Amino acid sequence: EENTIPAFPWFAMDIGGTLVKLVYFEPLDLNPEEVELEGEILMNIRHYLTSNRAYGEDGFRDHALELNNVRLGGRRGNLHFIRFPTSKMSNFIDLCISKHLHTLTFKVFATGGGAYKFEHDAVERLKLSWCKCDELETLIKGLSYLSKLNPNECFYYEEPENNENSNKIPFKFNIRNPFLLVNIGSGISILHVESETSYRRITGTSIGGATFLGLCCLLTGCSGYEEAIKLASEGDSTTVDKLVKDIYGGDYERFGLPGHIVACSFGHMNLPEKREQASKADLARATLVTVLNNIGSISMMCARTENVDRILFSGSFLRINDLSMRILAYAMDYWSEGKIKAIFLEHEGYFSAVGCLGEYIM
Ligand code: ADP
Repeated sequence: EENTIPAFPWFAMDIGGTLVKLVYFEPLDLNPEEVELEGEILMNIRHYLTSNRAYGEDGFRDHALELNNVRLGGRRGNLHFIRFPTSKMSNFIDLCISKHLHTLTFKVFATGGGAYKFEHDAVERLKLSWCKCDELETLIKGLSYLSKLNPNECFYYEEPENNENSNKIPFKFNIRNPFLLVNIGSGISILHVESETSYRRITGTSIGGATFLGLCCLLTGCSGYEEAIKLASEGDSTTVDKLVKDIYGGDYERFGLPGHIVACSFGHMNLPEKREQASKADLARATLVTVLNNIGSISMMCARTENVDRILFSGSFLRINDLSMRILAYAMDYWSEGKIKAIFLEHEGYFSAVGCLGEYIM
């Protein structure tokens, strides 16, 4: 029923261990009565959000991800995708206050651990009606919504090892065929999904996106994610890792292990002369490959025990990270002999926030 849908604005936030993902629905079909009801404060906020791509030093709108003219709960609008570090939550609240948001009362749907951690601030300082949602439930709802809405949402690499060719092929995704969902955020959750309402968290690992970034900062002195990814893309991990051929002089034939496979991550780094030879870029690349090998092998094990042939990867760790997606795709292909397919998603880390936005129309 139309009159049960809350008035605008519609904001949903996923407050994670590292990043806050904010999704904003910009209505395009406001009638004159609603425009009047919206008032100056909300109109200013709408203009501020939609006319800028950066907010202060740390907030960014992912303009390339914007979805235009979409339908949500019988309304028509644009979906905007905004992120900032969770460590800047208090600056975000200050910004909202400076824009007089705290003088209005409206409903915000929030998920992620921060929905709990920052509930008190949101309610006391911003006077929001704060509705908490579960992050894994909204992750799957968001995936279901965006994969239907956006024909290019899901894709795979036809030849992941061929960097010359972009090779991104749209994948026709049907949520009803069971699949594995591997969410690579600060940490990692692995879910077995049978439908929008039937899913299980199988396992997780603490060696995730934040491990890559944390170790990379320690080892290379880099200052952030973009720099870490750039370094990794320029490096060579084989100066850092010990490969099968470094030990065998070739392949370990009896168990089908080719020489180029990593036998021990960071295995060369006990020797001073090897440490001398390894550049910062090499260390960044080795850190990336170490984390990816772990994700790949746990995901593959889960896919086998759950008997599924598709693994979807989500989470902001894959943001501007074509390199990691190709490495994962290649590894899944190689170790499953082409039986298990790795599938990636355009809106990477935003699914829980999108699923949360869907709560407005439930
Ligand atoms: P969470 O919900 O736990 O914050 P995300 O899905 O947002 O998880 O992913 C966080 C990870 O994404 C980081 O650990 C890092 O590897 C990567 N990342 C991508 N962009 C950034 C960024 N601008 N700043 C920090 N980490 C980023």
